[in-house]
Amino acid sequence: MSRRSPPEPKPFFFIGLKESLIKDEFIQHDKFIKENLTGQLKLQLEVISEYLFIGSGNYNFIQNPQLVYYSFFRSNDKIVIPGSSIKGAVRSVAEAISNSCLSIIKKKERYPPTHQSCKFNLKTKDKNKRITKLCPVCRLFGTTDYGGRVNFSDAKILETEKKMIEIVKIGNLFRPRINKQMRKFYENKKFYPLKNQMPEKNYRFVEAVKKGAKFETILTFQNITESELSLLLHATGIKQNFKIKIGGAKPRCFGMVEFIPFEFKILNDDLISFRDGSIEDIIKNKDLIIEIKELEIGFSEKEEKCPKGNY
Ligand SMILES: [Zn+2]
Repeated sequence: MSRRSPPEPKPFFFIGLKESLIKDEFIQHDKFIKENLTGQLKLQLEVISEYLFIGSGNYNFIQNPQLVYYSFFRSNDKIVIPGSSIKGAVRSVAEAISNSCLSIIKKKERYPPTHQSCKFNLKTKDKNKRITKLCPVCRLFGTTDYGGRVNFSDAKILETEKKMIEIVKIGNLFRPRINKQMRKFYENKKFYPLKNQMPEKNYRFVEAVKKGAKFETILTFQNITESELSLLLHATGIKQNFKIKIGGAKPRCFGMVEFIPFEFKILNDDLISFRDGSIEDIIKNKDLIIEIKELEIGFSEKEEKCPKGNY
């Protein structure tokens, strides 16, 4: 009789919802507040995990060996990480750190009413009944009917593309069927290539960018408070004991990146000239930082292998 091998440990972790979600009035975009900060931070992104994959939604073919693969996102024929992917990843970390609402709720998943997405409150057609209070992250990143005050530009690759690209075989991806009423993130485990590199059922090929590849993006922010800027910096992992994940194939332990700041400019009161910002000073402001320890532990580098099979 054959015994089934024990299931591979799953590569994700959960962060519990904290009790106090404090919603506040959102800032009108046309109302410039003197104490608020406007500026930009240039960032280099380095791929730390074995691979990074951002799907284009398309697939491609190669002849030898003959196979079909999912292609990496491109803009003007060049590999880029879309700014929206970076923003989404930073947002979900910011939500956990600041105990904000769950902006993405999958169907059938139930969460406590305290953390329901703010957009449900904004939906009402009766303007007098509209709720004007949003959680910290919706105020900063935006929600339905309310544009955010931060943006990331598409990140361009700095190296010669060809050197940094590889077609990688991975097990198919499935969403874990787990609903613990908690926030889910993927861990930083080790990816090992599959022995059999031929096409087979339940596996796919993806065009991935290799470890060590560097990209460049610009984070722009307008009219945000120091505590919001601090939250934003914390959520990128800058000067923190963790790095965050972006893109797809996270269940295969792809996507961990390091953000390295290299130019930080804040607009002066004259609204024309800029001064150098200090990341060290900004991140001292912990007004919106509710929890960070669980993320540090969850995102820390693990020696364990990433699961190869389906789970
Ligand atoms: Zn919200």
